[in-house]
Amino acid sequence: MPDHKGNDYALSMDHTKPEDYRFALLRQAEYSISVTKTAQLPADEGAEVAIAGRSNAGKSSVLNRLTERRSLARVSRTPGRTQAINYFTLDAQRRLVDLPGYGYAKVPEALRLSWGPLLERYLRARGSLRGLVIVMDIRHPLGPHDADLIAFGRECGRPVHVLLNKADKLSRGAGLQVLAQLRREALLAEVGLQLFSAQTGLGLADLHRQLAAWLGEKETPTSAGAESESQIGEKDSRSGQGGRDQIETARGPSARLE
Ligand code: GDP
Repeated sequence: MPDHKGNDYALSMDHTKPEDYRFALLRQAEYSISVTKTAQLPADEGAEVAIAGRSNAGKSSVLNRLTERRSLARVSRTPGRTQAINYFTLDAQRRLVDLPGYGYAKVPEALRLSWGPLLERYLRARGSLRGLVIVMDIRHPLGPHDADLIAFGRECGRPVHVLLNKADKLSRGAGLQVLAQLRREALLAEVGLQLFSAQTGLGLADLHRQLAAWLGEKETPTSAGAESESQIGEKDSRSGQGGRDQIETARGPSARLE
């Protein structure tokens, strides 16, 4: 049946409305282990994606949205685990990794110093790490900790995808304006960037597509002609491989049209 825009998705190649795309594997997420020392890390094989963010930017809410598993983020919030690297198994070879929130005012300096090296070693040396999702509050984007993490991630050669979360708090125009402004930042030249709302699900399909691409789903649905909700006006930066409206995560500044 054609929808109100005249698109007949039943006849399209992927049978999926672009805004409805979900990477089903994510729903299988199960908490497995909290790591505070490098030696505790699971075997470095298969593929994993890590998610990080300044405290209160909405990392737990994003995890809930992404996996549709409310209990997961509760696990990460258990006392003692907020400063750990929390692992969620997706299947025998794939994992989601919840990195410690940063920017906590309350964390003692000693603790800050002790988890820094773990995180640093993890980002530098983890062979199975396919990409890093960084959650920011769209109203306070790119704080110093965010910038440090992005710079370090890029230095380690990690693909980075930034969520401008809580986009529901801004008008659509204001959200797109922040997106456009950030896209001009040199630091973000080779970084994926999208509007997101853990509350409304805005941009969820784009995030699922990014994770499917990183975690190796064999075929990521494409749907020509449709625009992404979270990246309207950014068609120039689509990835050429499956992610119809993905921001290319490894493109050079020369590929940017702005
Ligand atoms: P974390 O500390 O990064 O894990 O952040 P939480 O997921 O605990 O979220 C912090 C606060 O922001 C909570 O009150 C959430 O309900 C709220 N929040 C998270 N995501 C969104 C969003 O997309 N929109 C709105 N309006 N609020 C959000």
